[in-house]
Amino acid sequence: MTVTGGIGRSWAAGTSRAAVELREVTREYGAGDGRVLALRGVSVGFPAASWTAVMGPSGSGKSTLLHCAAGLEKVNGGQVLLAGQDITRAPDSVLTAMRRRTVGFVFQSFNLIGSLTAEQNVALPLKLAGVKVSGEEVRAVLAGVGLEDRLRHRPRELSGGQQQRVAIARAMITRPAVLFADEPTGALDSTSARTVLRLLRGMVGSVGQSIIMVTHDPVAAAHADAVVFLSDGRIVDRLTRPSAREVAERLARLEG
Ligand code: ADP
Repeated sequence: MTVTGGIGRSWAAGTSRAAVELREVTREYGAGDGRVLALRGVSVGFPAASWTAVMGPSGSGKSTLLHCAAGLEKVNGGQVLLAGQDITRAPDSVLTAMRRRTVGFVFQSFNLIGSLTAEQNVALPLKLAGVKVSGEEVRAVLAGVGLEDRLRHRPRELSGGQQQRVAIARAMITRPAVLFADEPTGALDSTSARTVLRLLRGMVGSVGQSIIMVTHDPVAAAHADAVVFLSDGRIVDRLTRPSAREVAERLARLEG
């Protein structure tokens, strides 16, 4: 399966510029006895046109890292650069605009709107942003995820894997600089998961998409170009193009 020109973008391809960079980022929750340090001085770069998986034991800070990197959560200390822009102290209006145009999100639970067709779900982000969207563009993006024959289907008429592909098309319609994926295959059977992972791989290869994916599945992580490991709010390792077995072994040592 390939991603067609409908979601093509050339500027990011082949560059080594970081899609997202965190510098000495700290994030804490609560206060007093209930204070939790979720990120303890995290410095990490996520290269553009590359796919990075984020792994670590439960509670190690993966979701917090994803949310801070995407500008969904403010940091307490350090700096976050998203698509070359320092968003650390950006006003909410700038962050809202970036969320609409610069980043795309895919979640474990798809988060599609049940009453809307695949086409309408995909068109929604642009409509919400007040941008005119052509039917042709929507169809091209859905064809890019292999769903050109499911345009008028509603989510309940689609399999889990197909729903996730609609969600990916919806995330890609705005041509985001960075696609953030939170356990994108967590709710899928292994065959559908493989289709989705191949699709993501194709997006990195064909249009130079930058992807940051949180997962606890070593097989999913092994599809990425690199895997960073978090433990207790710190980056403790980075593996380049590891096998699923290498990922599983590294994770087991952190969880052990
Ligand atoms: P992971 O995604 O690796 O499971 P999280 O980033 O969700 O880890 O959480 C890291 C730590 O921060 C955990 O100890 C968690 O309990 C805490 N935490 C996360 N979000 C909140 C919150 N909104 N309020 C209080 N503590 C939180």
